[in-house]
Amino acid sequence: MESELKEMQARLETVPRSVLEHVIDVHCHPTDSDMAMTLRVAEQMPIRICAMATRRSDQRLVADLARAHPDKVTPCFGYHPWFAHWIALSPVVSKEEHYRALFLPPSPPPKPDLVAAFERLLPYLPDPTPIADILPELRESLETFPNAMLGEVGIDRACRVPYRRPADPPYSEYAPTHGDEDADGPRSLSPFTIPLEHQLGVLEAQLGLAVELGRNVSLHSVKCQAATGEVLDRMYRKHGERWLRISVDLHSCGLSAQTFRDIAKRHPNVFLSLSTVINARSPAHKDLIAACAPDRILVESDFHDVRCSAPYTWHMLQTIAEVKDWRVEDAWDADAPEDRWGAVRRLEENWRAFERGGHRPYVKRRQRRDRAIEEWEAENSESD
Ligand SMILES: [Zn+2]
Repeated sequence: MESELKEMQARLETVPRSVLEHVIDVHCHPTDSDMAMTLRVAEQMPIRICAMATRRSDQRLVADLARAHPDKVTPCFGYHPWFAHWIALSPVVSKEEHYRALFLPPSPPPKPDLVAAFERLLPYLPDPTPIADILPELRESLETFPNAMLGEVGIDRACRVPYRRPADPPYSEYAPTHGDEDADGPRSLSPFTIPLEHQLGVLEAQLGLAVELGRNVSLHSVKCQAATGEVLDRMYRKHGERWLRISVDLHSCGLSAQTFRDIAKRHPNVFLSLSTVINARSPAHKDLIAACAPDRILVESDFHDVRCSAPYTWHMLQTIAEVKDWRVEDAWDADAPEDRWGAVRRLEENWRAFERGGHRPYVKRRQRRDRAIEEWEAENSESD
């Protein structure tokens, strides 16, 4: 890891700052690391970043970082699926009852080893927070920053609840960065995953707020290909054109190329971003890049340390450029015509389209023909 980072850092140093300032890391977790260091390093950071929140204790840190560096940091507020069990969708009678309903449903009667695992886990779990308390705070955070996004939110079927008390920030000192392996070894993971239905309840409440406030979304999806498509379809049906006002980024997208293509076909507001840390573990990420329309792809680091955002984002940008056969700029030419755009300019324009939102619904071929005829008639009647 160390030498990999050094190599990336060395490559980054050959790129002029006038190019790097057009690069956007659309998904990272800088507030997972020590805040004094993060605030200091962000000052010198050559690129722009979208800083994610994940749970109640880091929403404020993201706000602090965005306030300190408004030109470089887009704040993202929201609740990550790994912590969805800490949120109660209905009024809480008792902590035990809340978690029992999630992890030990009464039928079929749970096996004794599962009951024992639950007894072991319960003391580590925090008192649940009702969603009715979470949503007004989230609304306030989003309204405080007109450019803020909703993130990181999503669904995850791989994540198991650890036998560990919730960490206080900076989390990076305790927690595994990402993925299903736990830093302390598999024995520190309980057998429990968070029921998908509960995760969907937490996610859809947050998405409703994003639609209402017209905010873009950074969406996590792990081992939930079908469910992810279904959530997006449900949102489109429920909110109609208002759904298309916002953009959704499938971050460190783990979907197959085919699933992404199908989703993109139904949802003109869905983008995809890739990271070296998560996606480059699988060679399939190059197929995904190839399958993604050139104007829907974004780049990210997903890193928990702000010092790694630029080198890792640049690394993925080079991978995308290679697969898409785009040149990478070595100098910045703001007036370059579109057919001369390099990877940095293309990805920056994609980010702008993402930020802007207001996507147009796809028009069915027949409607398109009818519309062309109408336009032709309108033009002709004007010239009469
Ligand atoms: Zn993330």
